[in-house]
Amino acid sequence: MLSVAEALDAILHEVKPAPPVAVELADALGLITAEAVVSDIDSPPFDKAVMDGFALRSGDLDGAETRLRIVEHVIAGMLPSVAVTSGNATRIMTGAPLPQGADSVVKVEDSRNDPPGPSSVGGTVIIQGIAEPGQNIVRRGASLKVGQTVLPAGRLVRPQEIGALAEVGKEHLSVHARPKVGILATGDELVPVGEQPGLGQIRNSNEAMLGAQTQRAGGQPVLLGIARDNPAELRERIAAGLRCDVLLLSGGVSEGTHDLVPAELAALGVRNVFHKVHLRPGKPLWFGVWKGKPAQAGSWPTYVFGLPGNPVSSLVCFELFVRPCLRRLLGFEPAVPAPVRARLVQEHVAQGERPTYNPARLAWDAQGPRVEPVRWHGSSDLQAMVQANALAVFPGGGATYQPDTFVEVIPFDRSTDGSI
Ligand code: AMP
Ligand code: MG
Repeated sequence: MLSVAEALDAILHEVKPAPPVAVELADALGLITAEAVVSDIDSPPFDKAVMDGFALRSGDLDGAETRLRIVEHVIAGMLPSVAVTSGNATRIMTGAPLPQGADSVVKVEDSRNDPPGPSSVGGTVIIQGIAEPGQNIVRRGASLKVGQTVLPAGRLVRPQEIGALAEVGKEHLSVHARPKVGILATGDELVPVGEQPGLGQIRNSNEAMLGAQTQRAGGQPVLLGIARDNPAELRERIAAGLRCDVLLLSGGVSEGTHDLVPAELAALGVRNVFHKVHLRPGKPLWFGVWKGKPAQAGSWPTYVFGLPGNPVSSLVCFELFVRPCLRRLLGFEPAVPAPVRARLVQEHVAQGERPTYNPARLAWDAQGPRVEPVRWHGSSDLQAMVQANALAVFPGGGATYQPDTFVEVIPFDRSTDGSI
C-alpha cells in the first residue's frame, strides 16, 4: 500500500498544468498567468505633479520670500501650453503634466497669494524658502517603461495584478483555466439534500461539501447527482462524468459487496494508478487516469478520484490529494502546499497503525503556530470538522505526544477560511 507521500508523487507524476485559455481580465482573479505581459506604455506616461501647488524653476527661489507670476493653471487631463521661465510659476494639480521649464513643484500649503485670496492667472504667488529640483514630481517611466515585463508567466493574479494589467490595456489575459470537476455520489442509501431520509437512508452531503472544496481550491464544480449501486447505471453516469477535467466519485471504493466503482472504472478504460493509501481516514482512495476524450474536447486526460464515502474521509482525501491535483492543473507551484510546524498545546494520544490526519485547530500566539487536535469520533464525524481549520499529522504506530511537541499541520485552504 502506498504512503501518502508516494500517492501524492504518483498523482503529480500524471498531472500537467492545464492548457492556456484567454479570459477577460476580471475573470482572471485567483488564476495563474500563462503568458508574460509587457507594457505598451511608460508609467507614468509623462513627468507629473504628485501634489497640488506651483510648478516652478527651483533656481528661482533664494531661501527668503520669492514672488512669482502665475502664468497658467493646469489640471489633470490637460496639457500645459506655457513654458515656465524665470520669475514665473504654473498653478498645477496632482496628476497634471509638468510644464516645460519647471523642475520642481512646491505644494500649495507652502505658498500664499498676493493679494490674499484665490490664485489666478496673471496674479502673484509668494513662496518662502527653497525647493529641491525634482521635488513632488514623478518622472516619465519611473515605475514602468514601454516593453518592460509587467508580469511573467506563472504568477497568481490578485487585485494588484489586475490593476497593473489594466494600466497596460490588457483586456484579455492568457491563464490556466479553472478545471471542471465532476462530482458523482454513489450509493443506494443516498437521497438528495432537499428530501427527508427514509429508514436506512442518509442525505447526500458529500456532493455539496466536495463542490465547496472544489470551489475553494479554484476548480469549477459540475454536480452530477446520485448514481445507484448497480453496474449499468454506474457505468453510464461515470461515462458522462469522464467529460470533465477531473471526476470525483464518492463512495463504492471499499471492500463491500456493493463497492462497484473500481470495476466500472476499469470497464470504461480508466487506468488505475493506485488503490488504497496508508492513512487514516481515507484508506480506500482510488486514483486513475482516462485518456479517451474525443479530439474536439482537447487531448487532456481526465483525472479520476474514487473517494471513500464517509464524509470525513472524503474531505481529508480531497485536501490531501485532490487539492494538489487542482493546484497543478491551475499552474500553482508548489502543487503541494507547505505544511506548518506547530506546537501541540495539550497531550495527544494517537492510536492505530496508520498515520492519522486528525481534525485540529491551528492558531498563532506569541510563540508562533500552535495546534489543538479536536475531539473526533471517526470517519463520519463531520461535526469534528466543523470545529477544525486544519489536519494535524500523527505518524503511524501510535504514541503519546506531550504538550509543546512540534507536529506537522496541514491548514485547509486559507483563502476563504476566516478562522486563521
Ligand atoms: P462507501 O464508501 O460507499 O462504503 O460509504 C461509506 C459510508 O459513507 C457509508 O456509511 C455511506 O452511507 C456514507 N456515504 C456514502 N456516500 C455518501 C454521501 N454522498 N454523503 C454522505 N455520506 C455518504
Ligand atoms: Mg456505498
